[in-house]
Amino acid sequence: MKKNIILMGPPGAGKGTAAKQLQTAFNLVHISTGDMFREAMKEGTELGKLAKTFIEKGDLVPDDVTIGIVRERLSKPDCANGYLLDGFPRTLVQAEALEKLSKEIGRPIDTVINLDCNQEELIRRISGRRVCKVCGTPYHVVTMKPKVEGVCDHCGGPLYQRPDDNEEALKVRLHHYVESTKPLLDYYEKLGLLKNFNSLVGATTLFDEISQYLKA
Ligand code: ADP
Ligand code: ZN
Repeated sequence: MKKNIILMGPPGAGKGTAAKQLQTAFNLVHISTGDMFREAMKEGTELGKLAKTFIEKGDLVPDDVTIGIVRERLSKPDCANGYLLDGFPRTLVQAEALEKLSKEIGRPIDTVINLDCNQEELIRRISGRRVCKVCGTPYHVVTMKPKVEGVCDHCGGPLYQRPDDNEEALKVRLHHYVESTKPLLDYYEKLGLLKNFNSLVGATTLFDEISQYLKA
């Protein structure tokens, strides 16, 4: 079973949705740098204040800060059974730091799962996205509705629209994806770790396909 996993893909490809399902099914620790930053912003910590200035514009938080929080999280005992990195790494500097760090702590990456999706669909998904304020589970106002409007199925928390899910910030995020993050696919391909999935098949089928692959 592959259990130390990186989930990659553009914003809106379905990383968060897949991560929540895989976390539950395989008892993996879900490490979402985006969720960690949003948590820090909610609490108003120094990290949160710093992250906010980048996130609201759609820009990337600086590498040293982001690498620092991942290093700390990944080293905790609960990650020994396996981890699911979602939204990290996003730059080559982050990827190289992670290569080194994950080996140092004896938790090397087993596989990199890339979720493919076309730009039109990304925009459709993100403009209708709603997220649970408490547990981060993503929904869609048309295609992935919660059972009760505005309420999270899992934890009962309120759903909201992320402030960076607006047209302007999304353009910047997609730009950073193409410039900084997409090149990492080559990096992981060369390391023999990359596995591509088409995310247009829908959340349920995608989950089945990824599960099969992880177990094989
Ligand atoms: P999405 O995948 O939908 O773009 P995330 O929740 O993963 O959203 O991230 C939201 C924002 O948090 C990003 O636009 C960026 O500003 C910041 N962020 C998250 N992860 C990283 C990272 N690895 N490096 C730099 N910034 C990050
Ligand atoms: Zn919730």
